[in-house]
This record gives sequence, C-alpha cells and structure tokens, in this order.
Amino acid sequence: MAEPVQQTKILVSACLMGLKVRYNGSEKAALQATLQRWQQENRLVIHCPELAAGLPVPRLPAEIVAGNGADVMRGRAQIIENSGQDVTAHYQLAAWLALQAAQQAGCSAALLTDGSPTCASQSIYNGTFSGTRQPGMGVATALLQQHGIRVFSEQQLPALMAWVNEREKCR
Ligand code: SF4
Repeated sequence: MAEPVQQTKILVSACLMGLKVRYNGSEKAALQATLQRWQQENRLVIHCPELAAGLPVPRLPAEIVAGNGADVMRGRAQIIENSGQDVTAHYQLAAWLALQAAQQAGCSAALLTDGSPTCASQSIYNGTFSGTRQPGMGVATALLQQHGIRVFSEQQLPALMAWVNEREKCR
C-alpha cells in the first residue's frame, strides 16, 4: 500500500493573513483563496517574527543599512529605525524566533511579506528611508534559507504552489 502523502507545512507572515498588503484585485483574491484552503488543510503556521520578538505595535519604520538580512545576521550590517535608534538585536531575535517556529512545526517552506527588513525575500528598502527598494532579503528569510527552508514572497504564490505540488508528487 502506498504511504500517505505528508502535507507540506508552510510558515506564513501573519500580516499576509490579514491581507493588509498592496496588490491588484486578482492577486489578492488568489492569495486569499489559497491561504484559506491551506489553512483548512492545516498546512499553515501563522507567525509574525517582529511581534514574537516583542517589538511594539505600532512601531517605527526600520530599514537595513549597508547590507542585507544575511549581513545583519553575521553582524556586518545594522537595522536602524527612522528615529536613528539601532534595533539590530531585536530583529536578529525575530529571525531566530521565526526559525524556531518553522522548525518546531516542521515547515519546509515559507510565504513571507516582501519589502520587510525581517520577511523580505526579493527586495528591501535601501536604508535611506526614501522609499527606495533594492534587491535583498530580510533577516528571517536569510536564516530560514540557511537552514534549508524555501522562502517565497507573496508575489511568488504560483511558484510556491507548484513547488508544493511537485514535492508531494515525489513522495
Ligand atoms: S512583514 Fe513584518 S508585520 Fe508582517 S509578519 Fe513579517 S515581521 Fe510581522
């Protein structure tokens, strides 16, 4: 008898579940429908690394200065709030808590909000607080990827769906 297919568990940025994100209508509808289905299938681990690390709501905008998330985790770049305060240690903790949440639940993939100094996987703000993005990843994404967890941004939902299907077909 064939072994039952084990479901792929996915760490999801909590703010994606709230859908307080900018999309066109069809992307938003697709994201909403897929996340709802995956939640019913008990695949999702909903997590906000920054809240888990004790950062307040609301909090000041923070950007990575002179590097990306991997650099921050290596101690070679900082995360600064727009007040000038260095909050690097808080964001490093946020990354470790995201990894812990993913590993404890057995997640092999993550769907995280792009643009965030924590959750970004494709682009981050460039550290000048001018609204300018550059290619790069946040601290949690860097750490998750270093530990073998595939990270997709919300714009990459079709790629994540294909990856999950392929993975489960191969079992
Ligand atoms: S993007 Fe920010 S608010 Fe959303 S889950 Fe990640 S850390 Fe939390």
